[in-house]
Amino acid sequence: MDLFRDISTYDPIALAALRRGATLAISVSGGKDSQAMLYRLVEMRKALDWTGPSHAVHADLGRAEWPQTLAHVEAMCRSRHVPLSVVRRDRGDLVARIEERLNTVSTLDGTRTAKPFWPSAAQRYCTSDLKRGPIQKWLRTLGKDVVIVSAQGMRSEESSRRAKMEPLSVNKALTSKHLRGVTSSNSRGYTPSEALSAWQSEGGRLVLDWLALFDWSEEQVWAALVPGGIRELRARQKLYRDGDEAAALHGWLAHPAYVWGNRRLSCALCVLACRGDLVNGIRHNPQLAARYVLLERASGYSFKQGQSLEALAAEEMIRLPILEPA
Ligand code: SF4
Repeated sequence: MDLFRDISTYDPIALAALRRGATLAISVSGGKDSQAMLYRLVEMRKALDWTGPSHAVHADLGRAEWPQTLAHVEAMCRSRHVPLSVVRRDRGDLVARIEERLNTVSTLDGTRTAKPFWPSAAQRYCTSDLKRGPIQKWLRTLGKDVVIVSAQGMRSEESSRRAKMEPLSVNKALTSKHLRGVTSSNSRGYTPSEALSAWQSEGGRLVLDWLALFDWSEEQVWAALVPGGIRELRARQKLYRDGDEAAALHGWLAHPAYVWGNRRLSCALCVLACRGDLVNGIRHNPQLAARYVLLERASGYSFKQGQSLEALAAEEMIRLPILEPA
C-alpha cells in the first residue's frame, strides 16, 4: 500500500500540529470509515514521526449497538497498539434515553403521544447525548494546555450535509475562549491556522476537529481496510447470501454487519438508516426490534416517519419475540 497516495487530501494545518506534538484523538465507531482512518493515521504517525500521544475513543450506546461492535472496536485498537477509552452516557444507554424521552412527551394513556419522541434528523438527541456529549467530556480530560487533533471519519460523499462540512475546524465548545477569536466583528472566530499561531504564544486548550478521510471514496476506504478492497466485500456478501456464513466471515477484518449486507454501520437500528439496513438490523437484532415495536405501539409513532419496524418485520416475514407488558 502506498502510504502517501492520499497525502494531498490531508489537511496541512492538522499535519503541522501533529508534527509539533499535538495529541491525536481518534473517534472510532466500529464502522469502516473510522477503522480505515485509525489504520491510516497509525501508519502516518510512525512514518511522519508524530511525537504526541495518540488515543482512540469509542462512544458505546449500550443495547442500541450491534452486540459485536464493542469487541470489534477493542480488537482493532489492540491490533494497532492504540490505547482505547470507551465512554458512555452517565444516565443510561440509548434505549433508556429513548424511553425517557417517550415519558417526557407522553401521558402513555394508550393514545398518540403529544409529539414525536424517536430521534430523527431534526432531533438528533441520540448523537448529542450519547456520542458527542460523552466524547467531549473525555476530550476535556486530556488537558487544559494542549493542542488536540480530534480525528473523525465523516466523508463528504456520504451526504449533502456532510459535503458542506469544513474538513478542519476549531471546536468552539472545547477550545479555550482566548483561542476562539470570536469578536463582535468576527463571529466566525479564528481559522485553525490562526488559532494554532495564537496557541503557540498564549497556550490554552485548542481542539481541532479533523475529518481525516473527508475526500475519500468508498472504494478508497475498503482498499485501506481489507486486502481485496471492495471486491472482497462483494465476494463475501455473496458467500453469505449463498448460505456459507462461516466462510464469508473467516478472516474478515471489518464489522460483520457489512458482510451481512449493511451499507452503513450505525446503531443496530438507526432512525436514519435505509430500508435494507433496517431489515438487516431487525433480522440480526430481534430482541431490540421487539422492544422498539412496543414503544411504537405505546406511542402511536413509527420508528421512522412513514416506516414502522413492526410493519417492516411483517413485510419481510421476520418474527419478533414481542413480549406484551404485564
Ligand atoms: S446511529 Fe442513528 S440512531 Fe444511533 S446515534 Fe447515530 S443517528 Fe442516532
